[in-house]
Amino acid sequence: MKNFLKERCKKIAHEIVQESYPELSNRKIRIFTTNFLFGYIASAPAIGYIVVSNKIKQFDDFVIQGIIAHELAHSIRFIKMGTTKRIGMFINLLSSGLITKNKVKMSKEENETDKEAIRRGYARQLYKSRKIAEYKAKNNEKFRKICALYLTSKEIKEYAISIGRWA
Ligand SMILES: [Zn+2]
Repeated sequence: MKNFLKERCKKIAHEIVQESYPELSNRKIRIFTTNFLFGYIASAPAIGYIVVSNKIKQFDDFVIQGIIAHELAHSIRFIKMGTTKRIGMFINLLSSGLITKNKVKMSKEENETDKEAIRRGYARQLYKSRKIAEYKAKNNEKFRKICALYLTSKEIKEYAISIGRWA
């Protein structure tokens, strides 16, 4: 059976790369879908790799754009940081649930990744996807902890306005 979510994400990712992420235009973008992404709805383990939860198929394209724009912004940052730092970041990612210090580092990285996506014009999409996450976090402790690693919807809007990207 055709994996419609995968096809949708691939199309959206390619549009984003073409319009706003030229650094990735000569790289292959690989999308994986899974039911087993603990709490997270998407993840970017390496340059050009995006893993999305099947749970996101209920969202409209605008929201998925926000999610993918964030994950592709990780790839942009991975390219900029070089291999050694990238491996460190990967270890942080794996252990951030266990070690507080790594959680702080991960939070900084997630915040910077959000800002990268905002600078490239995806503030509104990111805002909408974060609103959904915040709503879900209201009565889900685990989800709330994950949400705390990212900019809030309010911070997304404030940052976007401050750089003239809330058009
Ligand atoms: Zn992220």
